[in-house]
Amino acid sequence: MTERVAIVGAGLAGSLLACFLARRGLTVTLYERRADPRVAEVERGRSINLAISERGLDALRRIGLVDQVMAGALPMKGRMIHPVEGPLDFQPYSAGRDRAINSISRGALNNALLDAAAEAPGVEILFDHRLVEFDSQAGSLIFATPAGKVEARVDVVLGADGAGSAVREQLLADGAVVEEVDFLDYGYKELSIPAVAGEFGLDPGALHIWPRGNSMMIALPNPDRSFTCTVFWPTGSFDALSTPAVIEEHFRANYPDLLPLAPNLIDDYLHNPVGLLGTVHAQPWQAHGRTALLGDAAHAIVPFYGQGANCAFEDVVELDRCLDDTAGAWARALPLFEHRRRENTEAIAEMALANFVEMRDKVASPVFRLGKRIEHG
Ligand code: FAD
Repeated sequence: MTERVAIVGAGLAGSLLACFLARRGLTVTLYERRADPRVAEVERGRSINLAISERGLDALRRIGLVDQVMAGALPMKGRMIHPVEGPLDFQPYSAGRDRAINSISRGALNNALLDAAAEAPGVEILFDHRLVEFDSQAGSLIFATPAGKVEARVDVVLGADGAGSAVREQLLADGAVVEEVDFLDYGYKELSIPAVAGEFGLDPGALHIWPRGNSMMIALPNPDRSFTCTVFWPTGSFDALSTPAVIEEHFRANYPDLLPLAPNLIDDYLHNPVGLLGTVHAQPWQAHGRTALLGDAAHAIVPFYGQGANCAFEDVVELDRCLDDTAGAWARALPLFEHRRRENTEAIAEMALANFVEMRDKVASPVFRLGKRIEHG
C-alpha cells in the first residue's frame, strides 16, 4: 500500500518537500493554516524578499524550478555601506569573481513552489487547515478549518510549520522533544522605498546596509524596482518613536539618506508590525520513526546570514537523500537525516548570531575592510 504522508505547513520547506516526495510516488497531503497565497492578500510586514544563495538554488535546480525563480531574481554582488555622513562604500562579496547572492520575492518563490506541488502527482494541498491537535504515536491529526474540525490519519507526519511549530509543541508536550528558544533582545520592522519615476532609488546590484553600532537597517531590491528596508533595533526602542515628528527626527538623525527615498516612512513605521527574532534549539527532531521536524520548525535562526530558507531547502534535499539511502524506510531515514544535518544547522545558527555584530558594527570599520570579510549579508 502507498504510504500516506502529511506535511504540516506549506511555506518554503513544506511546499518544496511535497515536490520531492511526489517524485517517490508517495501520497502527500500538504496542510496550511493560511488561505491560498496565490489568490489571497499576503500579510503585511513579513520579510518580503529573501537572499537566496547557491545552497537554496541547488534544491530548486533538482526539481527544475531554478530558471523560473532566477528569472525574477536580482543579483547582489556586494554590500553598499551607508554611513551617517560621507560617501557610500561598496564592498564586493568576492573580489575578482563574478559571484552574487540573489534577492528573491518570498511570495513569488512560495507561489512557484505551491504551483509545482499542486501539479505533482499524488499531492493534495489543503489551505485554511490549522493543526490544533496531534497524536504522534498514532499518526492522527486534527485541524481547525472554516467548516469546523477535521481529522486525518497518516503513516508519516512532517512538521514544516515554521519557528512556532505546532508539531514541535505537541512533541514537546508528549515529552518526545526538548527545546530551548533563545530570543534576541532585538526586533525587526519593514519599511519601503518605492521606485522613483520607474527606476530604482538605490543601486539594485548591492545589499544595502546602514550600520549604526548597536542597531542597523538593511535594504534589498525587488523586481518592481522598489526596495524593502528592514530595521533591526533593540526591542524597546520601537515604541519610543510614537509620533510622526519623533519618527521623522530619528530617521533624519540616523538614516538621513533614507528620508527623500521613503515617502511612506511614517505610515510604514506606524502600521507594520515588529517581528521577533530568535534561535530554536530542539532535540531530537524526530520521534517514533514516523514524525520529524524540518526547516524553521526544527532549527529557526536569526536572519543575519540570510541562510534560514537556504538551510530549510538543504534539509529537504538531505531528507530525500536519506530516503534513497534507506530504501524509503522512514524509521531509519529520519534519524539519519537528523544525524547528517544537526552539526551544519548548529554551525549556521552560531554564524548568524555572529554576523549580526559584523553587519551592524564591523562593516563600517576601516580595519574590517582591510581584513577578513565574510561572504554573505
Ligand atoms: P515558514 O516559511 O515559516 O513556513 C511555515 C508555514 O507553516 C507557514 O506557511 C505557516 O502559515 C504554516 N503553519 C504554521 N503553523 C501552522 C499550523 N498550526 N497548521 C498548519 N500550517 C501552519 N532566509 C534566507 O535564506 N535568506 C534571507 O534573506 C532571509 N531573510 C529573512 C529575513 C527575516 C526578517 C526573517 C524573519 C527571516 C529571514 N529568513 C531568510 C529566514 C526564512 O524566512 C526562514 O528560514 C524560512 O521561511 C523557513 O521556511 P519554513 O518553511 O521552515 O517556515
